[in-house]
Amino acid sequence: MKNIYHSDIYQFNTPVSSYWEDHSSENLNLDKLNKDVSSEIVVIGGGYTGLSCAINLIENHNLEVILVEAGKIGWGASSRNAGFCSLPPSKMSFKKMQSIYGNDETKKFFKNSVEGSNYTKDIIQEYNIDCDVTGDSNYVVAHHPNKFKDIQEQATAYREEFGIETEIYSKEDFDKIGHGGTEQFGAFSYKPGFAINPLKFVNGIAKYALSKQLKIFEHTKVDKIDKENGAYILRTKEGSIRSKKIVVATNGFYQEGLIPEMNSRILPVISNIIVTRALTEQEIDQHNFKTFSPIANTKNLLYYYRKLPDNRILFGTRGDLSGSDQSNLNMSKKMEKFLKDIFPKWKDINIDYNWRGLIALSQKLTPSIGKIDNEEIYYGFGYNGVGVSAAPWTGKQLSKLVLSNSKELDISKIYKGLPKKFIFPKLRTFYFRLAVWFYAIKDRFNI
Ligand SMILES: Cc1cc2nc3c(=O)[nH]c(=O)nc-3n(C[C@H](O)[C@H](O)[C@H](O)COP(=O)(O)OP(=O)(O)OC[C@H]3O[C@@H](n4cnc5c(N)ncnc54)[C@H](O)[C@@H]3O)c2cc1C
Repeated sequence: MKNIYHSDIYQFNTPVSSYWEDHSSENLNLDKLNKDVSSEIVVIGGGYTGLSCAINLIENHNLEVILVEAGKIGWGASSRNAGFCSLPPSKMSFKKMQSIYGNDETKKFFKNSVEGSNYTKDIIQEYNIDCDVTGDSNYVVAHHPNKFKDIQEQATAYREEFGIETEIYSKEDFDKIGHGGTEQFGAFSYKPGFAINPLKFVNGIAKYALSKQLKIFEHTKVDKIDKENGAYILRTKEGSIRSKKIVVATNGFYQEGLIPEMNSRILPVISNIIVTRALTEQEIDQHNFKTFSPIANTKNLLYYYRKLPDNRILFGTRGDLSGSDQSNLNMSKKMEKFLKDIFPKWKDINIDYNWRGLIALSQKLTPSIGKIDNEEIYYGFGYNGVGVSAAPWTGKQLSKLVLSNSKELDISKIYKGLPKKFIFPKLRTFYFRLAVWFYAIKDRFNI
């Protein structure tokens, strides 16, 4: 199987050393598969999508399910994201969405996005997961005076067209309840929204799944899938699984070659995060950083940041472009400068952590949920970096699809079906570099 980035980013057997790894004590230490077995359904990928799908298959349909994960549970993006429960899972503006899909489908898409956020909140409670929930909304901050009008428009559309609770804040008002700094020119909030420790969340879902008798194999990477007498045989290094149905929940870590129909359709993109040392209350006050809710700004190459429960600042943005460990380090240095440019009074604050991972984009710019024609293979991916709310909900939708006879889900059609294949797929990262340059120029001129 081929990867499109440097091999450093695909070290499945090594947990990524993140702030979350140092602030979550759980380690499930599950077996790897070392023999030949069979199951009604196999789920590939042990993040939010795969685990949620498996739990729903077991709880609602009483099915025998095996889940395989190439690393430890949650090794992919689910253990190392920024923990924002935000929406919508799309890189397309709502105006563009309305012009392509019409008003009704766009409304349904936003309704489903809100359902996703509420579903995440519900399972935290239902599965009794202690994942350090903070904040009660999301903020979008205008990084330049030009952008305040845009966010006012966005907030109004969210409220009037999609029924989402929003509030608009002037620069002065947001300074009192959000934060100050050099790139804060007003903001709006929307609900639902909050922040979590993503690793505690994924481990909590896995523990609940184990209590429901889900068989999970860690460090078990599917290298190849064969077909034999109407069944699929999933080959791993030390064993195989025979199954009638497969759910692919590998999102940005999908490896080209596994499933022919899925190849060349996903653009995995690196997102990087840095975390400062804990700040004193005095240091926090220097920029009035009051809120514990997640924040994203209006740059095309957006910055996302939040104050963690121990007064550190987590700061993320689009990542390095090669995937090597060295490019990660270089990127984290650049990000430190971005952070300190917008919060200059913190210029002497050290950075304690940096890490990154892959999010999944596609030409659709919205998630993809569905079944491959003439196969019993189901997929859910492409959350555009908004998987905390979208992925568990997608897992639940997938479980319904796997079992439904009509093969139709009652969700917005914007989610349904595979994205187009990239022309000359080997050039995907080159296309992305071009897009980054283009948006960096737009950001430089605040357009
Ligand atoms: C740095 C970063 C920050 C982010 N911040 C946020 C945020 O704040 N809010 C938000 O909503 N979203 C965020 N995201 C995105 C979010 O984390 C993802 O959308 C979400 O975790 C996707 O869940 P998943 O289960 O579909 O995929 P993943 O969690 O990526 O899981 C896929 C799994 O599949 C496994 N796998 C791959 N191939 C195979 C194979 N052949 N055999 C077996 N297993 C395999 C991988 O090991 C991996 O663990 C962020 C992502 C990154 C990288």
